[in-house]
Amino acid sequence: MYIVEKNTDIDKKGRELALNLQSLMAIVEYDYNRHEPCLVCGAKFFKHYPDGLPCESDTDIKDLYSKDRWGNKKILKNSKKS
Ligand SMILES: [Zn+2]
Repeated sequence: MYIVEKNTDIDKKGRELALNLQSLMAIVEYDYNRHEPCLVCGAKFFKHYPDGLPCESDTDIKDLYSKDRWGNKKILKNSKKS
């Protein structure tokens, strides 16, 4: 029997798929996408701690790097994290 999924399930799966794809492309095109915004938190990929790759899901939000004017990196709690 064919069961039609509820729209919310489809939305959720579509979102998961988009995030999986984002993670994959972030790795494949690592040298070219450093300034793309993350779909989860909106920060640029290179700011993500510790690997410079975007958040992998809405429940697994990464901390961010912040750089001061002398170029020192500091780990910053992501404000999108609850
Ligand atoms: Zn992110």
